[in-house]
Amino acid sequence: MKEFGFELRVCAWAERNWPSDGERATVVARQLGTKHRRWDTVVVETTPTGLTDRAPFGDERLGSDLLHVARNAPASWAYYREALPEPGYPWRYVREAVHRAEDRGFLETRRSGNRIEIRRRYRYPGWVDRIVAIENKPDLDAAAARVLAEQLEHDVALGLADEVWLATSTTDDRIEPALLEAMPVEVGVLSVSDPEDGPRVEPIWRPRTLDTTGPGTRILDRPAGGAADRSAARFEYADPDWKRRKRLEIAERAYERGWRSYVGTMRPDCRGFELRDPAGPFPWCEPKGREQTAAECSGDCRDFEPEPPGWRDRGWPIEGGPGKAAKRLLERKRSRRR
Ligand code: SF4
Repeated sequence: MKEFGFELRVCAWAERNWPSDGERATVVARQLGTKHRRWDTVVVETTPTGLTDRAPFGDERLGSDLLHVARNAPASWAYYREALPEPGYPWRYVREAVHRAEDRGFLETRRSGNRIEIRRRYRYPGWVDRIVAIENKPDLDAAAARVLAEQLEHDVALGLADEVWLATSTTDDRIEPALLEAMPVEVGVLSVSDPEDGPRVEPIWRPRTLDTTGPGTRILDRPAGGAADRSAARFEYADPDWKRRKRLEIAERAYERGWRSYVGTMRPDCRGFELRDPAGPFPWCEPKGREQTAAECSGDCRDFEPEPPGWRDRGWPIEGGPGKAAKRLLERKRSRRR
């Protein structure tokens, strides 16, 4: 199975089955992280109450500037420069964020002379309990394991996610133990198989919980090893405030995108595009007779054929062609998760 399809299956499984004690809810997203590191799958653990409290801030994410306003806005009227902490960037950007926050409906503003006063309409909730990062590697061979082990060591050292997992395919009912031994012991391992009735995922090694509240270490460079290599490793310190902010920004992006946003970069308006259940829905390309990747399903695809205009004009099946219907279906599923 290609990595894209594998990734969607891990997301679908996590959404339905992520270990929960009954009080938990999850938000699952793909391809999120920081400027230097992008995780394949991200699971944000929260609660139904946390999601309810987050809802008044809208379906779109709050970026760092809006988070600054949302988290610090006062309950009663105050001049915005006195109410909000020093942002670390020019106040004019804060003023713009204040107006956007008002447009988004979670902040009120009024003028007092030439001062802008603000008051929050909702308290920004602490809705993110834990963040789990999953690296997907269906075909784990020795070379892939070496690269992956290094990336996962970075994740463990930084401690931005509470847990880090590796998900890999189960082949011949087993995963080569020698490959797993190369992985950091703190990283959990999920074994994924894909029978007809939907993906099955089994934890075969439990991860350790990482320290997300303390300082982290960014590994910038490390010796390649070998007798002749006398170079020193280089590290950088990641302070807890940076980690706290990044975690919230990642959770906000996950909340906005979910994992079905792949449809936004594919061509559901192609005549050959289908969504197939039961385990997904996952994309399917009829002309290729297989699941297509997000990269190949583009306007450059040689098999691309636009939906016949008649499909759209006749309002198939209710409004718009199948492409629009596919987008609506995925958007409905995404909204239901929130
Ligand atoms: S033919 Fe190409 S563009 Fe059309 S669904 Fe298949 S991969 Fe996508």
